[in-house]
Amino acid sequence: MTAAPVLRVVLGDQLSPGIAALRDVDPGRDVVLMAEVAEEATHVRHHPQKIVLFLSAMRHFAAELERSGLRVDYVRLDDPGNTGTLGGEVARAVARHGAGSVVTTEAGEWRLAADMRGWERAAGVPVEIREDDRFLCPHAAFAAWAEGRKAFRMEHFYRVMRTRTGILMDGDRPAGGRWNFDAENRRRLPDDVEPPAVPAVEPDAVTGEVIALVRERFPGHFGDLDGFGYAVTRADAEALWERFVVERLPRFGDYQDAMARGRPFLFHAVVAPYLNLGLLDARTMLARVERAWRDGAVPLNAAEGFVRQILGWREYVRGIYWHQGPGYARRNAFGADRALPGFFWSGDTDMACLAECIGDTRRHAYAHHIQRLMVIGNFALLIGADPDAVNRWYLEVYADAVEWVQLPNTHGMALHADGGLLGSKPYAASGRYIQRMSDYCERCRYRPDEAVGPKACPFNALYWRFLARNRDRLAGNPRLAMPYRTLDRFAAARRDALLEQAERFLETLD
Ligand SMILES: Cc1cc2nc3c(=O)[nH]c(=O)nc-3n(C[C@H](O)[C@H](O)[C@H](O)COP(=O)(O)OP(=O)(O)OC[C@H]3O[C@@H](n4cnc5c(N)ncnc54)[C@H](O)[C@@H]3O)c2cc1C
Ligand code: SF4
Repeated sequence: MTAAPVLRVVLGDQLSPGIAALRDVDPGRDVVLMAEVAEEATHVRHHPQKIVLFLSAMRHFAAELERSGLRVDYVRLDDPGNTGTLGGEVARAVARHGAGSVVTTEAGEWRLAADMRGWERAAGVPVEIREDDRFLCPHAAFAAWAEGRKAFRMEHFYRVMRTRTGILMDGDRPAGGRWNFDAENRRRLPDDVEPPAVPAVEPDAVTGEVIALVRERFPGHFGDLDGFGYAVTRADAEALWERFVVERLPRFGDYQDAMARGRPFLFHAVVAPYLNLGLLDARTMLARVERAWRDGAVPLNAAEGFVRQILGWREYVRGIYWHQGPGYARRNAFGADRALPGFFWSGDTDMACLAECIGDTRRHAYAHHIQRLMVIGNFALLIGADPDAVNRWYLEVYADAVEWVQLPNTHGMALHADGGLLGSKPYAASGRYIQRMSDYCERCRYRPDEAVGPKACPFNALYWRFLARNRDRLAGNPRLAMPYRTLDRFAAARRDALLEQAERFLETLD
């Protein structure tokens, strides 16, 4: 008698051949299930390029598995009978194949993890859920690190990860004698430095078909679909990654925080979507970066700056997400409740920095870290935007937006809505910061060096209003002592004028 097949379920962000659910697959017996379901495509109004990326990458991955000899049952979005939910598709597939059990890899977000716990009942067979070991910090290791801590600081976590993994280490010391080269990584882009272009991948027939499907099924979502150029296969993603290492990584560190008109990617890697989907592997990437440094091809400030993002920030925010659980998203430390202004969807604003960053987002489903944090996020923080609305916007508009990484970055880092669990102070800044790090202000109708009057940059008065309003919560923070001293030195008339300026601006948003 032949044994019943095991149904191996692979989700849309688990497109890695070594994914835990496939590790002991028996090609002669088992079936791999992949399903495009409406629930995942529609639970927020994703940018069309993000939907194309996910669906096309899934279809290509299914073909890759088939070529390797596996039997894949692939359910398309428009297949008749598609129940629209993962649980429904698992139950149907168990019945279709007479599967005796289901093996899968843990979901990347709370909502799906809860859904998965109901599969056993829906399908009527045992379901094994395996830990996702593509990450370098297992849940238990993060919990052990977090145990007993009042504050969860990334810098400390990062050092532990460097020591534990040996990445960029010389024995028990950090390579080059320092853990952190951030101070060297804050340059503005000079006029005579032109970042190399990030190559676009020409859509193949599979992607073309998905583009047509997305145009028909998801009209009216924020974002352009023309010019879709993301990689949708492992081979293309790896080729783009290698181009980055050779062409842009050497100056990644220097210009990590810079922003420039018409150059959305600068020296960034543009790999987060591929990492988050599983097309690229974090361990392989970290080893490649270390090798590039040890071979003398990239300076240490670049290598360390990049390693910090993947081994530090990426692992850290994932740890926070799972450690904190869904209650995290319900925190609202500043009681912020303002609706997002309409220009978050149209980009139609006189503030040149926001118009540029939202425009990049619309065109490419991309904006780099500082655009997300110090322009869009900073503005949302200063106007007191409702965290739920902000979180939803970020989840919708970026190709790399998956909740475990998006939420701590938005809710914690950008909005400080978690009350400081993640960041030691809010990333609030005036227009001067944007002026220093970009060329946006040069073409703006506002002036970054004015705070009051018709030409005053709105960020300035909003910044002082934010500090004034949240004095009770923030004034005791030593990292904010200086700005509060400045605020307190202003004459009363100046303070009143700033607050009035801010209030008048806010009225224009409603
Ligand atoms: C408000 C806000 C929202 C964000 N939302 C997302 C999101 O939905 N998905 C996402 O992957 N990243 C998010 N980030 C982190 C970061 O902005 C993106 O990972 C990065 O811009 C992606 O572009 P890149 O691949 O060119 O990154 P690079 O700047 O080249 O960095 C390399 C890699 O490091 C990792 N990384 C860098 N910073 C972070 C970070 N803060 N947290 C986690 N990983 C990081 C990413 O995997 C990234 O691909 C967000 C940051 C902020 C401030
Ligand atoms: S002046 Fe102010 S609003 Fe205009 S681009 Fe600069 S920071 Fe943005």
